[in-house]
Amino acid sequence: MNILIMGLPGAGKGTQAERIIDTYHIPHISTGDMFRAAMKNGTELGKLAKSYIDAGNLVPDEVTNGIVKERLAEQDTEKGFLLDGFPRTFDQSSALEEILTDLGKKIDAVIEIHVEEDVLIDRLAGRFMCKDCGATYHKLNHMPKVEDTCDRCGGHNFYQREDDKPEVVKNRLAVNIKDSAPILAYYKENGLLHTIDGNRDIDVVFEDVKTIIDNI
Ligand SMILES: [Zn+2]
Repeated sequence: MNILIMGLPGAGKGTQAERIIDTYHIPHISTGDMFRAAMKNGTELGKLAKSYIDAGNLVPDEVTNGIVKERLAEQDTEKGFLLDGFPRTFDQSSALEEILTDLGKKIDAVIEIHVEEDVLIDRLAGRFMCKDCGATYHKLNHMPKVEDTCDRCGGHNFYQREDDKPEVVKNRLAVNIKDSAPILAYYKENGLLHTIDGNRDIDVVFEDVKTIIDNI
């Protein structure tokens, strides 16, 4: 079973990915892990990727694609794999198609964990912190017990990190939505896309995920 999992930041993709690999014992192939492994093992492509990252530049697609291909050619993917974080753009999805064809493999299902943008903004932009002691809170599920007062130090100075601010979160989501829309459309056209409502209990979402995978 060769599965691709997709979902916007905050949609719970990571949690579902963990459950999938624990339940079906297939390797979790995420871009971050792949890069780290290639660099640690010092493969040619790993060295190349490292040179870009060390210089503060984006790793070009041909290097990323090469690393994905090396990883998908490894023995442990024979019974299947869960691809996570790749493809990120439409060009990369075309590249993935070529890579898989070369390796004599194909994607069996694309699982999209879907959560509405407003909900994601509430989730992702809800975090705030105490300026005095660094304690972390969340507007949705972890407010200070006494209004405007830090549980840990009693301080009253709260702030939001730049990355947690609604405008920044909105922009990040907009970029992700723009990049993933053509990929989702492509897999939908091919009849591979399964969209799951991710705005429910984790266990309920996973039941739907299992149904899809069990029907491959
Ligand atoms: Zn505090």
